[in-house]
Amino acid sequence: MISMNKRILAIGSIFLAGVAASAVHAGFGPEAAGGIGAQGKISRNFYRSPYQSPEEIRVTNDYITHGSAAAAQLGRIDIVGMDSNDPVLVAMAAGEIIGLNDSRTECGCDLAYGSCANAITIRHANGETTQYLHIQPNSSTGEFGLSVGDMVTPGQPIAREGKVGFSCGNDGAATAGTCVLVAPPGAGNCGDHVHLTVRREATSEIVNPMICGISGNLLVDDTDYTSTFCSTVGCSTSVLITNTTLDALGEFRVVQADETVTADAVFVDNQGSLVLHAGGSVRMRPGFHCDRGGYCRAEIGLCHTTTPLQPGNGNTFAASQSSEIEP
Ligand SMILES: [Zn+2]
Repeated sequence: MISMNKRILAIGSIFLAGVAASAVHAGFGPEAAGGIGAQGKISRNFYRSPYQSPEEIRVTNDYITHGSAAAAQLGRIDIVGMDSNDPVLVAMAAGEIIGLNDSRTECGCDLAYGSCANAITIRHANGETTQYLHIQPNSSTGEFGLSVGDMVTPGQPIAREGKVGFSCGNDGAATAGTCVLVAPPGAGNCGDHVHLTVRREATSEIVNPMICGISGNLLVDDTDYTSTFCSTVGCSTSVLITNTTLDALGEFRVVQADETVTADAVFVDNQGSLVLHAGGSVRMRPGFHCDRGGYCRAEIGLCHTTTPLQPGNGNTFAASQSSEIEP
């Protein structure tokens, strides 16, 4: 039975430009020219930390700053475990393993190692994938007995944090092998971390993952977090978002409430990105603007709970649906 009081309400003279009909591949961001663009969008799914709880983690490059890192890749996120010597990585949400290679061993702080990394990739709800790069040799297939096609649950151990591939840090000198036959002069030292990529599988767009149990639900570089699981607790009853402008790549905002999220004087365009997520209703009042080039999504769901995607431009709909407006 659908609860009639759970609805997304569009009130008054809302200006929603480019609803649904506009192309998904709007073509911005440094990588867009190559057809695989980091588009400045927020993930559709809520994810837990990729590290086993309660590991303390540090984000060293976030969705934006990785674009200026040694391996400039907008949209990727680098994370280091701070507590253990060999931190255990876990599935960020339920899903199916669709890619896995932990057979490589070499590392170095040099582009020559770019194609030598180990990685595990998982497909989740709403057409999204998470990929965990640099994992330790044999940690996924051997220690945890995983292979492609396996189903995993949120928080299930999938590998150990490693440094295999192009990684930089203080965790040992560059090594060579069958992937890189001779370590390039000056390749430097390797660094343990996970290089995380969250994608929409159908379009290859890289999205900024909504993370449970952290302030603002988005990872920010040079910030420490305690790894935790997703829970429906921890939201305010009602939240008002007002006097807010999100109009540049990197201006992300996730607003959650147990009951009601209300947005009024909000302006989103030019690669700004906004998610309104509430258990009871999402209300957009006069003064709310989501213009072409901005990414906006309104959805009904309990705190930190993924809402199944049902694209559309209806103003009113029932529980467990979302409405998505793309550039
Ligand atoms: Zn990285």
